[in-house]
Amino acid sequence: SLKIIDKLNEELKANNIENEVKVVKTGCHGLCALGPLMIVYPEGAFYSRLEIEHIPEIVKKHFVEGNVCKEYLYKETVLEDGSVQPMNNTDFYRSQKRVALRNCGVINPEDINEYIGTGGYQAIAKVLQTMKPEDVIQVMLDSGLRGRGGAGFPTGLKWKFAAASVNEQKYVCCNADEGDPGAFMDRSVLEGDPHVVLEAMSIAGYAIGANQGYIYVRAEYPIAVERLNIAIKQARDAGLLGKDILGTGFDFDIDLRLGAGAFVCGEETALMTSIEGNRGEPRPRPPFPAVKGLFAKPTILNNVETYANIPKIIMQGAQWFASMGTEKSKGTKVFALGGKINNTGLVEIPMGTTLRTVIEEIGGGIPNGKKFKAAQTGGPSGGCIPVENMDVEIDYDNLIAIGSMMGSGGLIVMDEDNCMVDIAKFFLEFTVDESCGKCTPCREGTKRMLEILDRITEGKGKMEDIDELQELAAFIKSNALCGLGQTAPNPVLSTLRYFKDEYIAHVKDKK
Ligand code: SF4
Repeated sequence: SLKIIDKLNEELKANNIENEVKVVKTGCHGLCALGPLMIVYPEGAFYSRLEIEHIPEIVKKHFVEGNVCKEYLYKETVLEDGSVQPMNNTDFYRSQKRVALRNCGVINPEDINEYIGTGGYQAIAKVLQTMKPEDVIQVMLDSGLRGRGGAGFPTGLKWKFAAASVNEQKYVCCNADEGDPGAFMDRSVLEGDPHVVLEAMSIAGYAIGANQGYIYVRAEYPIAVERLNIAIKQARDAGLLGKDILGTGFDFDIDLRLGAGAFVCGEETALMTSIEGNRGEPRPRPPFPAVKGLFAKPTILNNVETYANIPKIIMQGAQWFASMGTEKSKGTKVFALGGKINNTGLVEIPMGTTLRTVIEEIGGGIPNGKKFKAAQTGGPSGGCIPVENMDVEIDYDNLIAIGSMMGSGGLIVMDEDNCMVDIAKFFLEFTVDESCGKCTPCREGTKRMLEILDRITEGKGKMEDIDELQELAAFIKSNALCGLGQTAPNPVLSTLRYFKDEYIAHVKDKK
């Protein structure tokens, strides 16, 4: 993409129109399968799968002669009669509703003016100038927003608990330690719209009475880290972070802390322990962070996607947000769609959308004419959704009812050729590697489960192994200290629930 931008600038200059066309480098627009992308406004011409060699022709035809260059447009935007339709009418975008991702792929994330130009920092101004902290919390409660990091705890309630904890020092943290295999929702928001997280954290700080925030971000996300650093500096220079924000007397600043890639550091207490400078291991709850969190002070932790919704909720109102979604899961959810699917990428759908819509319409179906078998949601903490549940409306509670979970938003599609025992083993290998070792059920139990899966997939398993897997899974779920261990057996349990015949086939056929 960067080379294409260079070539574009070079060609615009060669044609003496470099001052007539503004080239904006944005974050990801979501349709990863078709990148690199270029969207030309005001026409909205959506060029996809660009190569450097395409650029001279596009510049000549589109920018010099004023005709879109149809051969390089995303083919779904070109109708049979040759006319061009907006990308929002294509299968990939039609059923999506971009709230958290609204600015990704649209604005230059390294320019605070572009964020402000789309209404950015109006929400913090509204909050500081016209609302009391309890009003802000009430809006969050009324909106029905639940944590997008996986557990789905109501955000407003979390803020209410922290606001009620009396302490001179409180903290607001952002979990940007996205670690699920195949998940890149938070990365995309940080790379495409970093100011939204800063603004939302400031709003949270005002609501609970905190003046310091920390973003815990994976060091493996260097572009996200770089853009966050740029955004923090720009916001401080503009008087939107730091002392006396907007002249209201409210102080709030944000610092980054880089995570070294341990999956367990996405667990809230481990994350706080890591920020404190210690080895990232979970600690028992209670006390909950809202009472005794970072540095033993009242703390709230929300993930990136949760924050990305907040300024919009403040500006458009709780009712607007609550009008989207299902009865108990409001708003939208971002999923990283990957695996055996034509349109891999980031999709944001209203809660309540069916998996069928995601797979068949947005995702464009399964490649090579294969049949859909299952989709894994929630990564190593989640489970699979088989074909018979394709019409279940996706929300927190429905996914749990069918043995999966929302998780942070990884959605990996499998076709008829995938062995579900191998899939369960893949996720269990991941959790065995990532277990911090602090408690025995997770440290030892997941290893024993993996040994059994190894036996089964090597053709050395017995029928009793399947029962033992189930027993161990139940024990680990109810006895592990933190969410990592408590959810680690889920991929095994859900594949046993829907695909037990594949386990039995391994045992009986000895392969
Ligand atoms: Fe560590 Fe696993 Fe225990 Fe969590 S459940 S504390 S990751 S050993």
